[in-house]
Amino acid sequence: MFICNGKSVCKGIAIGKIKFYAKTSQAVVQRKIEDTEKEKKRYAQAKKQAIAELECLYEKARKEAGEESAEIFHVHGMLLEDEGYNDSVNHTIETQQVNAEYAVALTGDHYADMFANMDDDYFKARSADMKDISERVVRILNGAADSCDLGQEPVIIAAENLAPSETIRMDKSKLIAFVTKEGSSNSHTAILARTMGIPALVSTAVDDSCNGKIGIVDGYEGKFIIDPTEDILESYRAKKAADDEEKALLQQMKGKETVTGSGKKIHLCANIGHPSDLAAVLENDADGIGLFRSEFLYLETEDYPTEEQQFAAYKKVVQTMGGKKVIIRTLDIGADKQVKYFSLDQEANPALGLRGIRICLTREDIFRTQLRALYRASAYGNLSIMYPMIISAEEVLKIKEISGSVREELIAEGVTVGNVEEGIMIETPAAAIMSDELAKHVDFFSIGTNDLTQYTLAMDRQNEKLEMFYNPHHPAVLRLIQMVVDNGHREGIWTGICGELGADTCLTEQFVKMGVDELSVAPGNILPIRKIICDMK
Ligand code: PEP
Ligand code: MG
Repeated sequence: MFICNGKSVCKGIAIGKIKFYAKTSQAVVQRKIEDTEKEKKRYAQAKKQAIAELECLYEKARKEAGEESAEIFHVHGMLLEDEGYNDSVNHTIETQQVNAEYAVALTGDHYADMFANMDDDYFKARSADMKDISERVVRILNGAADSCDLGQEPVIIAAENLAPSETIRMDKSKLIAFVTKEGSSNSHTAILARTMGIPALVSTAVDDSCNGKIGIVDGYEGKFIIDPTEDILESYRAKKAADDEEKALLQQMKGKETVTGSGKKIHLCANIGHPSDLAAVLENDADGIGLFRSEFLYLETEDYPTEEQQFAAYKKVVQTMGGKKVIIRTLDIGADKQVKYFSLDQEANPALGLRGIRICLTREDIFRTQLRALYRASAYGNLSIMYPMIISAEEVLKIKEISGSVREELIAEGVTVGNVEEGIMIETPAAAIMSDELAKHVDFFSIGTNDLTQYTLAMDRQNEKLEMFYNPHHPAVLRLIQMVVDNGHREGIWTGICGELGADTCLTEQFVKMGVDELSVAPGNILPIRKIICDMK
């Protein structure tokens, strides 16, 4: 038995098999080959397996996300069948007398460079596809499994770190806990764990020696127990049963209005990052969706998602929520959420760089496509749009000019558009300080405390070394929240909190007293917070 201590970012207890997630990039070694025919056969076999894997992925994506999202796996299959690509691999094996892995990597790099240098955005985007298919074949030749494929059994994922683009590919129904070496309380893996309601630890000294062993993640004590003794296992089974029972008791809060004893009503909503989180939203009886991070659409595809793909996803969310309010945040990539096909430059300070609304205002085509999809979906439910990373009224006016023209364009095309509220996230100190001015131009404010804290305290939210300095209850942040609420109310608009602080139960009463109108939290936090509010005088 071995115990690693870590920092808990989501409470709960999980017991199960550990899968150590190793990064997919495969090492390729050049070897001299005598029997080139045998090597060509190895390649043909690996290619066949890669195509079979792609067909399975196509079917899975088609069922989960629809035909258009699945199409990329067809394209990859076709690229693997390309005569030029195959001839190049076989020719390299034959003439250079090298192993198949090396020939595939060399051919993949050659094609990727060729596409990257083309003067056409569509072909440029194929560069990443060529790298992807070649990595898949190399992985198969190396005899390694796809590390994002979690297998059939539920597992605890242990890893050095996890990028949003990796977690998005994992089958969430097989995930029971996360344990990572890197990451912080506000990293996106931590947010994902809270959305899923599964225990998670960061800053834990894990390595691949735990792979395949039985593990216990104790999200209350911040412990990761590897290979537990039978006694420890037994005591944790009992703790988990008690935990499950407590959760069952909270079920009584379902169907109740979120209102204090003196009659102050709070709109208690859920944060989601994927349409697959909707089940948890309904299960926990949220009053609506206060933050739908739309990045998933861009992270799980290998090219810009089309208007139709986005429309289908947004429509599904608003329809599932019936008439309840759904606030969809426009694209917020950059910083830690990198997407290859955006070809963003490396930046010295990405959190202070080209991210969120700044990308949308410099790449208006991408922004307009998303807005068209959002307005079209608004006809099917109660949809609001929210813009991230705002710093000035000028930005808001520019955004409104673009959104207004998209709306008019659709109406001119005869498309039905709903009544859409437009709000902004207050997640920069500039926006908080200017909130009196900003309130004149928008329908609501939603405070993103994750970024607001990072920018106010000048502390990278991703940097685990800062945890000892990072005070989420810092009075500067709380004063800014109060200022935003008051400025919003003065102009007659409502203010919510959708950052992680909104779920901090030590502050729930304080937020209600401050006049916050909405709290939007991970689905698993809805019922405990409703209980606190309903128990208030
Ligand atoms: C925030 O910054 O508080 C927020 C909700 O946005 P994200 O965590 O996606 O940056
Ligand atoms: Mg943010």
